[in-house]
Amino acid sequence: MQQRTAEILCVGTELLMGGTVNTNATEIAKELAGLGINLYHSSVVGDNSERLAEAVKLALSRADILITTGGLGPTYDDLTKETVAACFGKKLVLHPECLEEIKAYFARAHRTMTPTNEKQAWLPEGCTVLPNPNGTAPGCVIEAGDKLVAILPGPPREMRAMLKNGLVPLLTQKGQRLVSHELHFYGIGESELEYRLHDLMVQSQNPTIAPYAGTGEVKLRVTARVAEEEDAEALLRPVMEQILAAAGEYCYGVDVPDLQTAAVKLLREKGLTAATAESCTGGLVASRLTEVPGASAVFGCGIVSYNNQVKTDILGVDPAVIREYTAVSAETAAAMAEAVRRKAGAEIGIGVTGNAGPAASEGQPVGLVFVAVASERYSHVSRMFIDRQDEDARGLIRHLAALKALSLLRKAAEKY
Ligand code: AMP
Ligand code: MG
Repeated sequence: MQQRTAEILCVGTELLMGGTVNTNATEIAKELAGLGINLYHSSVVGDNSERLAEAVKLALSRADILITTGGLGPTYDDLTKETVAACFGKKLVLHPECLEEIKAYFARAHRTMTPTNEKQAWLPEGCTVLPNPNGTAPGCVIEAGDKLVAILPGPPREMRAMLKNGLVPLLTQKGQRLVSHELHFYGIGESELEYRLHDLMVQSQNPTIAPYAGTGEVKLRVTARVAEEEDAEALLRPVMEQILAAAGEYCYGVDVPDLQTAAVKLLREKGLTAATAESCTGGLVASRLTEVPGASAVFGCGIVSYNNQVKTDILGVDPAVIREYTAVSAETAAAMAEAVRRKAGAEIGIGVTGNAGPAASEGQPVGLVFVAVASERYSHVSRMFIDRQDEDARGLIRHLAALKALSLLRKAAEKY
């Protein structure tokens, strides 16, 4: 299949000033990787028509496809469409159907449309319009000779929808289908995963392997380009097997949305139930579990035992354990997991205790968390220390502790 090259150009002075993180470039780059389109340059230019025109011409001198984001707003500093159109010697013309869409959008949102919004319905002549379900500014695609330029809006929610629903289908080569699987990992960092898979990732052209780092998790999307959908698995399977051979012990699921779904699914399959006793996560583990449809079959009890009296009087933790080891200790976490397991009559109990900040307590530093799982087949306590002092630390500590709990829950269920 023909190898195409692409370039990303993000437009916006706010990106140059450091006020906005360029998430659009990252998202587009990943989609291109999935499409098997080579990306050799990605750049940012401010809201200045001369420099923008220069950047567009440079990009088109070396790539087949140019994708721009930003500068589609109704205000004077939004000049992407007119500048790109001018590079092709094209004018902007009013697209009446776009104007109707914009009017309808304002009517649905019960907002008054200003005359400047009409500017958004002016698009390069001869372009293909990309509808914007999440906003007013339509995007568009200009095709001239063997070059293609896609103009997408700046707001990430609008850009993302247009990219996935409008542009990716256009960039998918005719007669070509993309079939992908997602492998989800917990307990291994992105760099370690990439290190283990480096050669495979570099060599793989079809299928491609694209990593997505989340907070505490990593996802790999393996995408095959095929003419017939039924040919995809034969390409995907060997590569997935190689990935799992290198890091399978960290993979919690294939094509599952998240760790809680994987945990609930496994508990259901095995006919097990779980119960949680949480301190610093304040019910976050229970909340994640109950996000999953069908969780009621496997989860019936979560106790938030934030203070010590609840840990002893309601949960049933031996006060001597807390006295001897403090509330933030491996022993207390284990006792909480065991206590709630008994109280709920569940096979698996989870206990979370830690210090999520803002200050050290009982001599235990911020960021120290113990996550325990108790069951007849597998009991374990993980000590985590999330050494962060910034304003996001509390949320991060709670998030990572909840992930650990869900992972231990899954691990315990695996033993049955
Ligand atoms: P614009 O279409 O240029 O008016 O951009 C509208 C808003 O989208 C900006 O204020 C930013 O908050 C956001 N935005 C623009 N470009 C990007 C980008 N590359 N990545 C993330 N957000 C962006
Ligand atoms: Mg802008």
